[in-house]
Formats: sequence, C-alpha cells, structure tokens
Amino acid sequence: MNNNIRNFCIIAHIDHGKSTLADRLLELTKSVEKRKMKEQFLDQMELERERGITIKMQPVRMEYTLNAECYTLNLIDTPGHIDFNYEVSRSLKAVEGTILLVDASQGVQAQTMSNLELAKELGLVIIPVLNKIDSPQAMIEETKKEISDILKCDKEEILQVSAKTGEGVKELLKKIVERIPAPMKGIKIGLANDSLRALVFDFDYSPHKGIILYVRIKDGEIKKGDKVILAQSSTEFSVGETGVFVPLKEETENLKTGEIGYVVTKIKETSMATVGDTLLSRGSKLAPLKGYKQPSPVVWASVYPQSQDDFMALKQALERLVLADSALSFEQEESGILGRGFRCGFLGMLHLEIISERLKREFKVEPIVATPSVVYKVETKKGEMETVYSPVLFPDYHEISKVLEPWVEMQIIIPFDKLGDVMQLLKQKGAMIGETDYFGEDGSRLLVKAQMPLREMMGGFFDDLKSVTSGYASLNYELIDEKEGDVVKMEILLNDEVVPAFSRIVNRRDMEREAKKAVEKLK
Ligand code: GDP
Ligand code: MG
Repeated sequence: MNNNIRNFCIIAHIDHGKSTLADRLLELTKSVEKRKMKEQFLDQMELERERGITIKMQPVRMEYTLNAECYTLNLIDTPGHIDFNYEVSRSLKAVEGTILLVDASQGVQAQTMSNLELAKELGLVIIPVLNKIDSPQAMIEETKKEISDILKCDKEEILQVSAKTGEGVKELLKKIVERIPAPMKGIKIGLANDSLRALVFDFDYSPHKGIILYVRIKDGEIKKGDKVILAQSSTEFSVGETGVFVPLKEETENLKTGEIGYVVTKIKETSMATVGDTLLSRGSKLAPLKGYKQPSPVVWASVYPQSQDDFMALKQALERLVLADSALSFEQEESGILGRGFRCGFLGMLHLEIISERLKREFKVEPIVATPSVVYKVETKKGEMETVYSPVLFPDYHEISKVLEPWVEMQIIIPFDKLGDVMQLLKQKGAMIGETDYFGEDGSRLLVKAQMPLREMMGGFFDDLKSVTSGYASLNYELIDEKEGDVVKMEILLNDEVVPAFSRIVNRRDMEREAKKAVEKLK
C-alpha cells in the first residue's frame, strides 16, 4: 500500500478563498501547465465562472516532492454556500484531513463553524489557515484569536497565507504532508479478490461512457475489466476504465487503496447510481460502507414543460442533472391546466436558481418554474392529513383544524452593536431566540442561536438580516422538526380573479400587512 498519499479538502465560508488557494497548490505542484492556468481553475462549469462561486465539488490529484520523497496529494475543492453543503459533507467522507480556511478580513463566519463541526464529527485532521493576509483589511491577530477559540488550538498552530500572492503556501504544502495521515485500510484483507471496497462520493455522465463514478478506494484494487457490483442498487458491471483527475480525467492502469479517482461503468440508465453507494467485487461477502444521508429538500417547486411535447426532454434533463447534483430530487405530478410535470425538491433558493439555469443552458429546455414553497402538513376538519407542496393547493382557512410547518435552527454571527436591530427582526419573524455568545478578540461580535419557521427563512430573511447589519452578518441553518403554525393562504385577485402565481402562505397575524405590501408592489 502507498504510504505517500494524502487526501484532503478545503472548507471555508463562501468567498474566503478556497478555489484561489487551490490555484496556488496546482501551480506549486505544477499540476496545470502555465499557459492553461486561469483564476479559480477548478470552477470549470460556465455558471461557476460567471458567478464566481463553486457549485460542485472538484477532485484533483497533484504530485509533490518533499525531502526527495514523492507524494500524491488528492485535493477536493468544495463550495461554500449553504445550499451546496451536501457537496461538502460528501467530500469530507472521502478524505483524512481538511484545511480550514478563514478570510482575515472577514473573520470566522457561519459556514466556517458549520463545516468545522462536520469535519470534527468525522474525526478528520484539521489544519487551520488564515487567508488574505495581503489584504489591507486583514485583521490578523483578531482572526487568529477567533480561530484558536473555535478550534481550541494555539495561535501558533495557525498558518498564514495569501492565496492571491502565494505567500505561505509552500509551508502549507509541507504541513499537509506532515500532519494529514496516509489512508488506512478499513478492514483486514480477506481473500485476494474479495477485498475491494470503494465509496462512491459523486458521479457524472458522458453519453459515450455512461455513468462515471467518483470513488475513494477504501480497500483493495480496481482495474479495467474487473467484474464489480454497486451494493445498494445491486447493479453489476464490468469496469470500462479507471483513472484520476489531473484535474481533467486521465486513464490509469488501476486504482488502489487510499486513492481517489473515477470508474467508467458504461451504464446508461441514470437511476442505477446513488452517491454513498459502495463498489464491491462481484460475489464479495464484504459489508457495504456506511453511505450518506440523503438531504431533505428545503423548498419545493413545480417544474413544467412549456408544451407537453417537451415532457420527455424535461424528464431526461432532470435525470441527467441528478447525476451531476445528487441533492436534487423530483417526482412526477399532474396539474389540470399545465399537464404532466415534476415536483422538484431543492436545498434552497440558490439551488433552485442554479438548476433552472442549468436546464436552460445545458439541456436547452425552458420549463415553467412555479413559485417555490416549503411543505405543509395540513389536518382538515374532516380529520384527513394532507401534504401540501404549493400555496395554490392549500385548503381554505375554515377547512383546516391544524397546520404543521417545518422549522429551522440557525446560527447567526453579527457585530455586537447590531444586536438590538437583529433581535427586533427575529421577533418580527416569529423566531424563538436561544443562547448568544461573545465571539472574537474583544467580544465585538456575537454568535446568536435561534429557531424560526422555514417559511420565513425562505421569504428573504437573509436579505433582511444583511440589510439591518449593513452586510456584516453570516448565517447557517438546518432543518429541525415541524411545529404547529397559525398560517393562512393569501390570495391576490386581479379583476376579481385569483392569480395563482401570487398565492402565498403567511402568518395569520401578518395577513393584512403582507397583503398591503404585495398589492403595493404589484401597482
Ligand atoms: P471561495 O468561494 O472560497 O472558493 O473563494 P474564491 O477563491 O472564489 O475567492 C473569493 C474572492 O477572494 C476572489 O475575488 C479572490 O480573488 C479573492 N481572494 C482569494 N484569496 C485572496 C487573498 O489571499 N488575498 C486577497 N486580497 N484576495 C483573495
Ligand atoms: Mg470556490
């Protein structure tokens, strides 16, 4: 087994410089030819480049020599926006260590904390790194104090880099080799052919090669022609090709214990693969690896083809997109006027926006996307339980005996002097406020915990929060259980007719205010 492999990812809050740091690592290890190098090289999707954000995790393999010893470094760059957190959690399960990157001009932010929690739960080695030390706004000492507080480490352990100028990145590479352990075998080797176990952490699709699995080999070896099986779906296939990401796919003779690479399946039925599945040798007696928990959708929206003739095209596009983005879910549904379409589940509003955009660009389908909504469980006076995905189908007030709606638990980091405004906003949104903690060098920032209906979170809470804090707030949330809500359907009539697109679910208490606001906006 190769003791010179190091598998790691970079985690951080959005815009703290992960992809830029990855650029410097690619350069220093000469993994990309100079003339091909461009900023945020690993953000290869057109949409990622346009928006300057990472949407999809991206593995890359680098060769690095330290003290005449050659190492293989497998890096997975991850997104920072909360809507793409599933990518982060999957990446973390494929590696032994992670760089926790913090922007010195911003300090520790909400996703710094949540990603750190994920890494800690998995017992990964964490290398704390302060980025953007070249920036005139860098608050080096203050931010180091924050990092040492959340990590419970010495300030001296924190590396300082500028991903922009490259300062400190050589030392970081060295640290990666020294501190992150080589991959260990997950099990004792059994019979020779029996020992393959690989975690499928992602995949993509090519019309030519079918489904391509992104794997982390936990035990054993895999090569072209091997007969293997996907444990969960019981799909058997013969390996078409194995390879690594350098960063584009490059064929290799095989993949061995500890390595990260891809496996060509030639399977064309898109439903055969799920992330978190385990690849085993055919007939293997080994137990599958612990996979991933499928994330619960946060918002739902109906997606319909413009014309029923495009239904199949839309269906195929969604099936393909699920392969590139396993957080997307969809079910077929029918609506009287629109015909056949799909009810799609997304991890947030940005996720929905990105999927709509990708449908247009990559698949040339321009569907009608209904107003997104959270899901409600409604008990009617007749005693029936209904699951309601769209405000249009929400029963009338007098038919309802009880409504359950999803809630979120959130962590907000804000400047201390904005506390009053933030508390007021939280109350207005019906939040239950939990603990607050001082944070940072002189307690100038606060970590506030609160619970709130998901409906309010999706109704633009973050924008309101940013506006009351002049942009100095960051937010993380996760779904918790459902709670009873006093909510009603608000319909807007134009010329005495209900316009379904404007129907919304609002707090009964806020009905009048919301209705006025909506009508004024329409005017
Ligand atoms: P990501 O969202 O964490 O992947 O962040 P990016 O790598 O896309 O960087 C976000 C922004 O920060 C970009 O405009 C970068 O040019 C900038 N940036 C990244 N690293 C540095 C740094 O060390 N110094 C300065 N001044 N800017 C940086
Ligand atoms: Mg990025």
